[in-house]
Amino acid sequence: MKNVRTLAATIAGRCERPHPREGRRKPACLSWASTNVSHTNVNIHMMPRPVPSGSLPHCAVFSVTTLTPQFPQPAIVPATGVLWVLVSDQSIAISDGEKPQIYAPVCPSQAGPVEYLGHFGATPCYAAGLQADAPLPEGWAGVGVRELYGRIPDEDIAVASFAVRIIGSAKMSRFCGRCGHETVPVLTERAKRCPACGLVTHPRISPAIIVLITRGDEILLARSPRFPVGMHSVIAGFVEPGETLEHAVHREVQEEVGITIKNLRYFASEPWPFPDSLMIAFVADYAAGEIAIDNNEIVGAGWFGRDNLPQLPKKLSISRALIDRWVERKGPFSET
Ligand SMILES: [Zn+2]
Repeated sequence: MKNVRTLAATIAGRCERPHPREGRRKPACLSWASTNVSHTNVNIHMMPRPVPSGSLPHCAVFSVTTLTPQFPQPAIVPATGVLWVLVSDQSIAISDGEKPQIYAPVCPSQAGPVEYLGHFGATPCYAAGLQADAPLPEGWAGVGVRELYGRIPDEDIAVASFAVRIIGSAKMSRFCGRCGHETVPVLTERAKRCPACGLVTHPRISPAIIVLITRGDEILLARSPRFPVGMHSVIAGFVEPGETLEHAVHREVQEEVGITIKNLRYFASEPWPFPDSLMIAFVADYAAGEIAIDNNEIVGAGWFGRDNLPQLPKKLSISRALIDRWVERKGPFSET
């Protein structure tokens, strides 16, 4: 189990538990003070809203479809005609009203990281990292990204999480990891460059596999000690250096529940922005072995039918999407 970074808890429990960094966050809609920043240079309500490309599966809620990056990006942020996504830690500013907006027409402060996200139609969109006590436009307040589900369209959730992700990455790459010099933006791609040693760094993406294992008309679900009581989910874990996705799936399954699998099939993928994962989901069939847990990463596991499913992760996660598709018999599943 050495060096194994099991994701089971963060994947299935991510909707149930507050992120450690979110523990410092104040209640939704109270985290940022509203102030009277009222001048407007873009009327968001008049903006054309691009249609998301294609019909994405439920599990792709964090896939950005409405912003189009255009590189090279402007060398300086335009003074007008810009839409802003305002970020503080893992919270996003949204407007009040029946149809909250994430695109603010003004940015209260550019003292923190400012990152180009892409173009929303013909309008450039930037993310700005603000302090938790920074003022927001009147009627706007900060809300945790996870709390946005169901309140705004999925395509806006994707942009919100993308903004959190990019601002977080900007903070992590402010200084060169090789020589410590302050970095500068690369205008032709989404990257930072060190002017002293030339090192170019891109936003980190950490691939992680997730797999639903079927045995006849049952699936294997497991419990992490970090899950809420009673909740189970599918097997998951980070991909280690030097291994393929397929290798990672077989290894994680063997390590966490002690069985072997066969007939591995791709299911779907999803960017998971807490903080930088890309989830690659698979389906597999049980091959051999008895369930054997380590009581460390996994504290319970078993086979469950459609009529006796335990408490499951919330619908925001790809793990839940896997299970839902199996329940609906709409995925690449084997049945006997
Ligand atoms: Zn350097």
